[in-house]
This record gives sequence, C-alpha cells and structure tokens, in this order.
Amino acid sequence: MTEYEKDWFEKDYYAILGVTDKAPSKEIKKKYRKLARELHPDANPGDAKAEERFKEVSAAYDVIGDEKKRSRYDEVRKMGPIGGGFGGGFGGGAQANTGNFNVGMHDIGDLLGGLFNRGGRGPNRQRSATGQRGADSEAQLTLNFNDAVNGLETVLTLTGEAVCSVCGGTGAEPGSLPSKCESCDGSGVHDENQGLFSFSRPCQSCGGRGSVITAPCATCASSGVQVRDRDVKVRIPAGVKSGQKLRLKGRGAPGRFGGGPGDLFVHIKVEPHSLFGRSGRDLTLEMPITFAEAALGADIEVPTLNGEVVKMRVPQGTESGKTFRLKGRGGSGDLLVTVAVVVPAELSAEQREAVEAFAQASTVSPRAHFGVQY
Ligand SMILES: [Zn+2]
Ligand SMILES: [Zn+2]
Repeated sequence: MTEYEKDWFEKDYYAILGVTDKAPSKEIKKKYRKLARELHPDANPGDAKAEERFKEVSAAYDVIGDEKKRSRYDEVRKMGPIGGGFGGGFGGGAQANTGNFNVGMHDIGDLLGGLFNRGGRGPNRQRSATGQRGADSEAQLTLNFNDAVNGLETVLTLTGEAVCSVCGGTGAEPGSLPSKCESCDGSGVHDENQGLFSFSRPCQSCGGRGSVITAPCATCASSGVQVRDRDVKVRIPAGVKSGQKLRLKGRGAPGRFGGGPGDLFVHIKVEPHSLFGRSGRDLTLEMPITFAEAALGADIEVPTLNGEVVKMRVPQGTESGKTFRLKGRGGSGDLLVTVAVVVPAELSAEQREAVEAFAQASTVSPRAHFGVQY
C-alpha cells in the first residue's frame, strides 16, 4: 500500500461529496459539479474555508470520479483501518464524560491520538491490536428511602485497577511521553505488497502499539494501570429500586495498552421507610382512620415524604381499604393513601354507651342479603 493510499482510510470521499458509496458515477459527477461551482474560489473570494472545501471536493472527485481509482479505493477501505496505534485505543473506549474523574486519561488519549493515530479515522477509531479493554467493576450502594425516590449524586470509593497516578496512564515516566515507533512510523503494522493486495503484520518493535516507551513508569511497569483506591462520582437517577443494577459506561477499570475502560455496575439496595411504600413511580401510605371518621366523613392530615403535611377529605361512608390518590405528592409520582378503619381494643364507659346507642339505632344487618338472622 502506498502512502497515498493510506490516506484513503482517513478520508471518506463519498461523505465529502455527500453521496453514498452505492451512488452511480453520473450522480457523483453531478454532485461534484454542483459543489465545485458553489465552492469555487472565484465565487468565494477570500473565503479560506470554501477554498479548503473546494480542494477537498476536488481530491475526492479525483479518486471516486474515476472508475478505476474508485474500485481500488473501495477495496482498500474494505480492508478496514489498520493499526489503530497507541492513541486510537484510548479514544476508542471513551464514553461521554460528565464527571471530573478519569478525564485525564481521555485527554491524554486525545493528545496522543492526534500525534500517533494514523490508521484510525474519525470517531470510529479502532483499538490497537494489542489493546486490552479494562475489566468491569462492581459496587454496592445502599440508599435511604428518600435518596432512592429523589435520586442523588454521590461518590463511590472503589478499590481496584485505576489509571496510574504517577504517569496518568501513559505508561511513561513523568516528564516523558511514549514516542512514535520509528520502525512502523506509528501505525503499529508493516505492510507487505503482494500483487493487487497488501497484507499487514503487527510491528515487532512496538508490539503493534505504534508507540514505544523509552522511560517506563516504575509504578505501573508501563501498563498505565495501578491498583489503588479511586473515587467515582455517580449520579443515581430518581426512582431506583432495591435489586436494580445500574450500568455506568466507561467507569470500570482502565484498559491496558490502548484498550478502552470497562463499565461500572452499581448494585442498588434501598432501605425501607417506616411510613411509606412504593408502587411503580408512586408512593403508598396506609392511613388509619376511626369508624366515626369513615362513617361521618372528615378532613384529615396526611404526612408526605418531603415533610410537608397535606389535608385530605375522607368522604362520609368511606369503606375501609379505599385508596385515595394525592396528585404530585409522592416524590416524582403521586401519593396513594389507603384508609384502614381502626377498631379500638378497649372502650371507655362513655364510648361503650355511644356504641351501644349506635347498635340500638342500627335496624338493618349488613349480612341481611346472606339470609341469616344474626
Ligand atoms: Zn504509571
Ligand atoms: Zn512499531
């Protein structure tokens, strides 16, 4: 493979011209003419960006506008990017990074990626042939009821493999950086041309990494990985339940030799609440009421999770076991209040008199429809 063809991995000429790789040559020609007209320096005097685009478009058309070159280009690209190199691996595993931790590792990855990553292209950069993905980490997190309902941000301290604190994951002594492998020019592979095809084999000098470490980090033996405590900031979403397992992408152990990091799995345990339970997104509460309140109706006070007390109307003639929904009072959902009529275990003389009077006045048995007398 020639230097010129190596460029082909990095440049998607179809994308540059805004056509698919299945586009017929007529369409490519049409698209090129349109773009060339729009971007032509004569039409955009002094516009450096347009001029750059014009050059890009011309270079793309030079290859895929020519049937012979196009089929060779397709063939080369089908073989895939080779030798992602040192930086490619770091970038390959990077996920959205919201916290402040382990950012350093990706920063270094990006830095080195810019220097050494010849084989990769764009966001699809491949891991180096030797890169090892980091292990997944596991953590237990016990939450109190409120935090589980409302969500929280917390810091987990994990013991295990972490980015080396001395070299920051580069594997090289502080003050030095891995340097580009001269033997393979940083690509991690050597190409051998055999007629129409070219084959690549991993570079012996750098083990396929594309970079060499002349001053290995003593702390991590140039692996970039060290066993130690590390703090991981995690955001627990509102509404997690006991037994749930949260997966935090890229927060596991760091990879080695350019491999991406593993994931972190957080096992959730939620402590029960003395008053409230949960039903889906809603909270539940069992509310004791007296027979008199159920029979006559009453305005009662209901506690909520945030400490506020809200009023609830129990209509007259409410059956024990009836559930009332208080909208928006149960964390991110509603509060489901189920009333339970409480029967006093003991009665005062006054209460006994009142209940006996009630019994005297009750002429219809609630079991009358069973066809029984008592
Ligand atoms: Zn180190
Ligand atoms: Zn090499």
